[in-house]
Amino acid sequence: MDALTAAPPDAAIVLTGIDLSLGQGASRVHILKSLSLTIGRGESVGLVGPSGSGKSTLLMVMAGLERADAGTVRLAGEDIAAMNEDRLARFRGRHAGIVFQSFHLIPTMTALENVAVPLELSGDAHAFDKAAAELESVGLGGRLNHYPAQMSGGEQQRAALARALSVRPAILFADEPTGNLDEATGRSIVDLMFAMQAERGATLVLVTHDHGLAERCDRVVRLRSGSIVEDRRLVTPA
Ligand code: ADP
Ligand code: MG
Repeated sequence: MDALTAAPPDAAIVLTGIDLSLGQGASRVHILKSLSLTIGRGESVGLVGPSGSGKSTLLMVMAGLERADAGTVRLAGEDIAAMNEDRLARFRGRHAGIVFQSFHLIPTMTALENVAVPLELSGDAHAFDKAAAELESVGLGGRLNHYPAQMSGGEQQRAALARALSVRPAILFADEPTGNLDEATGRSIVDLMFAMQAERGATLVLVTHDHGLAERCDRVVRLRSGSIVEDRRLVTPA
């Protein structure tokens, strides 16, 4: 099916003909190969595939953190490939929240300050109040003034989730968010992530190598060598 005609106008993410190579000279690697994918609003998609298949790179392209060599990326109806860096950064700040395996909190800032960063960047006059409320909602009301080094891995990931969700993004991207956590802690983070996604009607793109986790999504997309080799819907769209 043609990706353009298949894409509903209100899709959250529409990738068309994405190609991307990274690295220089002999070490240049063709990572994403004419890849097309449409993700609906409110959908949760588990992105799986072997290590090195391009999952993280694809997530970066979808989130506008990496530019493709060819193809188009539409997020919330807008063509982000056409945006300059400033406009893209602002757009990303409003529409996309991202959670990484290694949390990526700023070590010299408290939990509250970390979560307030995207709100302040978006010019929100109530950044600290909203950041505190967001930390409450992930169960970290008692950790507002803790630095990342003073928090457990699970708490750091909760803070990172609160930061990603603080601007109420339409799309939440998560790259192996449980990869650095023990099983029980990982499960509680994932439960929280799905609960917040459902509550806010956000779209979720979750990279994971945990099949059980991927199967909690509405849909599982499998990559191999930079191409989609399987696209399986587990739940019919509402
Ligand atoms: P995954 O997340 O599925 O493990 P990645 O998207 O991280 O895969 O990487 C896909 C492939 O691209 C790997 O072979 C990796 O070595 C290569 N790669 C990733 N980033 C770069 C880069 N900056 N330069 C060259 N090759 C890269
Ligand atoms: Mg990866």
